[in-house]
Amino acid sequence: MDREVSENTNLAVVAQEQFKRAITWIDDIKEGMIDHLITPKKTTHVRFSVSMDDDSIRTFHGYRVLHSRVRGPGKGGIRYHPDVSTDEVTALATFMTWKTAIADIPFGGAKGGVVCNTKELSRAEIRRITRSFVIELGDTIGPHTDIPAPDMYTDAQTMAWIYDTFDVMHPGQNNGAVVTGKPIEMGGSLGRNEATARGCLYATQQLLKHDIVPGLESVDGASVVVQGLGNAGGIAMQLYHEAGARVIAISDSSGGVLSESGLDPDAVLKFKKENGSITGMPGTKKITNEELLSLDCDILIPAAMEGQLRADNAAYVKAKLVVEAANGPTTPAADAILQSRNIVVLPDIVANGGGVVVSYFEWVQNLENQRWTLDKVNTRLQSRMNDSVDAMIDCWNEINANNHQPNGKKHHAPTLRDAALVTAIKRITKVTMQRDIWM
Ligand code: NAD
Repeated sequence: MDREVSENTNLAVVAQEQFKRAITWIDDIKEGMIDHLITPKKTTHVRFSVSMDDDSIRTFHGYRVLHSRVRGPGKGGIRYHPDVSTDEVTALATFMTWKTAIADIPFGGAKGGVVCNTKELSRAEIRRITRSFVIELGDTIGPHTDIPAPDMYTDAQTMAWIYDTFDVMHPGQNNGAVVTGKPIEMGGSLGRNEATARGCLYATQQLLKHDIVPGLESVDGASVVVQGLGNAGGIAMQLYHEAGARVIAISDSSGGVLSESGLDPDAVLKFKKENGSITGMPGTKKITNEELLSLDCDILIPAAMEGQLRADNAAYVKAKLVVEAANGPTTPAADAILQSRNIVVLPDIVANGGGVVVSYFEWVQNLENQRWTLDKVNTRLQSRMNDSVDAMIDCWNEINANNHQPNGKKHHAPTLRDAALVTAIKRITKVTMQRDIWM
């Protein structure tokens, strides 16, 4: 890999660059609207101290950013990771604003996180961190203001603690809708756990119907490589396999495994559960995360972290299609390299929108005290994912057909990310103008 190539991979810079590029295709935008659209509405930074198992006391930093509430209350996950920062959370909240708009669900965008390493914490410590974080956030979150969900290193159990703490703070109310991704028994939606990966699969299948990925017609029979073995990646491995794909490689934070003849997802998950890592799994070849990204395959699914495909490694990607299950895995420089090499990128704000779509279904069920069947959830998810992909493709076709700047010069060719962003920004701009929010 070319380690000489440098670029700014700060996620906030990436989000700004993607936005600035997209708005070059929107020419009737009102003065000041651009600033209004990109500026987060509220940034909350809390500090709280927690008693650790060894009787020591540690102070943690937590963040919640409400980026936009133009189309509804804030919605977005909470992440526990050592790299959590204001910039990262702000960028991820910005992505949520675009994501909820392209999925056409009545939410704005938000995100949160706590700077911590869950691998070094006990369950009881994570519980105390979660409860303290929610207490400090106070009314920053709420069923009609800002609704968290799981993200990296948080799960249904974390959501249960968030709900319980909020419920203690607001007795006598129906508080179920304060957080989504809860355990099923306490109001979680059937299908929410698999929703991000299932949405990725539906979006991929719908995209391929549009016949815009050179040399790839179907998930059935495709070779697939997945980076990340958590909620998004681990379940994507299973669902793409069930849809007829051959998953040839997968990784976690400690590295990856390759089997040209195809991995057995159940065996991978069993090995990971028993050994804590997948490296060393019998019948597989050990590879690094960098090697995994440049494997010869049809579909590459980055499903771990941001900033994985960059200026220094995008030239080595051999996939025909990149499906962004993770948020922000591709930098703008990598986007340009992949586009020049005819590698299509199904962007995060469409590809991984399934999580927030089923979170929306959970929120509706909680407010109405209803329980939908799994079939109803998945049918509605598929319909939303298909509509998101179709809206992105319609916009892409439109800007491709009319791709001239006012001075008559040919504009650069749009990517699918540009088209998805243009669609989202136009929807938010329209509602902003209808609300006429300028006091
Ligand atoms: P998770 O905590 O369940 O899993 C993360 C996985 O990534 C783990 O397998 C971990 O080992 C692996 N990983 C961590 N660092 C890595 C590295 N440097 N290289 C390779 N693998 C690494 O998290 P998740 O919920 O699956 O989230 C993964 C991505 O998907 C994130 O970008 C997240 O924002 C995005 N996402 C998640 C959801 C959701 O509903 N969970 C929804 C939309 C987007």
